[in-house]
Amino acid sequence: MRVVISSSFGCGSFTALNHMNALKHAMMALRKIAVIAWASPYSIIGLLIGCTGVIFGGRVRIVGPAIEFYDGGIKWFVHRLPHGQFTLALTLGHIILGQTDAALAIARRHEVVHVAQYERWGPLMLPAYLIASCYVYYTGKRFYRDNPFEREAYDKDGGEQDR
Ligand SMILES: [Zn+2]
Repeated sequence: MRVVISSSFGCGSFTALNHMNALKHAMMALRKIAVIAWASPYSIIGLLIGCTGVIFGGRVRIVGPAIEFYDGGIKWFVHRLPHGQFTLALTLGHIILGQTDAALAIARRHEVVHVAQYERWGPLMLPAYLIASCYVYYTGKRFYRDNPFEREAYDKDGGEQDR
């Protein structure tokens, strides 16, 4: 008798738990699709640059929440951005464009914070970033390093001072 009751109760709980887990996983999958779509205007630009860079000798891989492109044409592109020789990597949506494998190893934690920011801000990310930079510059602070998007990325990356 005890076995039957326990089994029946356990089976019911197990089924309810399975439904809860399935619902939870479905919600997580829907959220992931939504944030990928929300950030996609920038990801598409990053993909175009990255794929062009791969044609010119670049490499590509998936790491965590992002697709990383590096070496070859990607290195050439990043190096020619303003202050590009000092730029290890930059993020566009779910795409991280790095100069080299070593540069990505150093910059990854910082860039992944930017990926999360793109997931929150979506198409508004670039205007919000630029407005924040202009505002901090207007108030006498540094255009890049005091931008709150960069502050968050540097803080979550361990608060390194000069990258
Ligand atoms: Zn940054």
